[in-house]
Amino acid sequence: MIYLDYQATTPLAPEALEAMLPWLSGPGSAGFANPHSPHRPGRAAAAAIEFAREQVAALLPSGGRVIFTGTATEAINLAIVGSKAKQVYVSAIEHAAVLDCAAAFAEVHTIGVDDDGLVDPQTSISPGTDLVAVMQVNNEIGTIQPVAALAEAAHRAGAQFLCDAVQGAGKLDPPAGADMIALSAHKLHGPKGIGALWVRDGLTLAPLIYGGGQEQGIRSGTLSPALCAGFGAAAALAIERREQDAAHVAALWRRARELLAGWALNGSAGRRWHGNLNVRREGLDVARLMSDLRDIAFSAGSACASGSGRPSHVLRAIGLSDAAAKSSVRLGFGRYSSLQEIEDACARINAAAAAQGV
Ligand code: PLP
Repeated sequence: MIYLDYQATTPLAPEALEAMLPWLSGPGSAGFANPHSPHRPGRAAAAAIEFAREQVAALLPSGGRVIFTGTATEAINLAIVGSKAKQVYVSAIEHAAVLDCAAAFAEVHTIGVDDDGLVDPQTSISPGTDLVAVMQVNNEIGTIQPVAALAEAAHRAGAQFLCDAVQGAGKLDPPAGADMIALSAHKLHGPKGIGALWVRDGLTLAPLIYGGGQEQGIRSGTLSPALCAGFGAAAALAIERREQDAAHVAALWRRARELLAGWALNGSAGRRWHGNLNVRREGLDVARLMSDLRDIAFSAGSACASGSGRPSHVLRAIGLSDAAAKSSVRLGFGRYSSLQEIEDACARINAAAAAQGV
């Protein structure tokens, strides 16, 4: 199996697994204790969580706090619902977590993108807006948005700025100027089932989940020390390996682009995370391609849109026709992908497309 779906999820780093294991133990060990219990094993588990919180915070700007959540989707819902925003601007290429939550709770104004998949940094925001949400790196086409300029525009209008940094965290500098930042562990080689919302100091949020008052009274529920420790270790590793990972990904990107020279690129070539290669070929039947290449894990558009039969809202937003959007595939690679895997996958994708006569 060649795994080329790094935007959907990433392999768990061995270091993250190692950090989790002591907190997954059973009888005879204290590692299973409730981190909210005041006894000694409980305090040890709580200390592991606080250590992990600091490791995650190192991915983020100073001057804020990290609230652990179950997923980035939950973090985004907490930001939008908890800030009680009623007038919200979102980019047209946000993840469904932003689009659908904002639509459920607020009046939504959409900021378009150009054909390269980029939001205009000069976008003006109307006074009276409560919240502007623009992602750092798009999950479908990898484009990097000018979030610092958009945060300034939001602040000029008196609005707060939420950045979904799920695809950029650990790879790029944290989004400057944001008031809230959403993260997900499983997109940076941590475990699934844990995310975080970073909240600028001084900003108050209403809880989304009520109960025992854990997570600073904002997100009740017993935390998993194992998931927190895995998230923390993955964050620390991302910081340590950032340049090495970026250089590796850039080399894989260059090779994949050479081998897929006959394919058109979706989204800007330069302003993007190069571990995301979203390409199209006119007339391609993507469902057939995927069924011909079952031992290569890649995606038709985004993981969430694929399977629904609907053309991706992101590919539509960059001006592609339904047919062009439906002839697009996304190859996502990263730290644990090898050059050999990229070469084999590209050769087989080309051969399978040629067999379709496209
Ligand atoms: N935002 C972006 C950009 C994503 O790619 C994803 C996951 O696909 C999410 C949010 C949701 O993350 P989670 O799986 O942690 O809910």
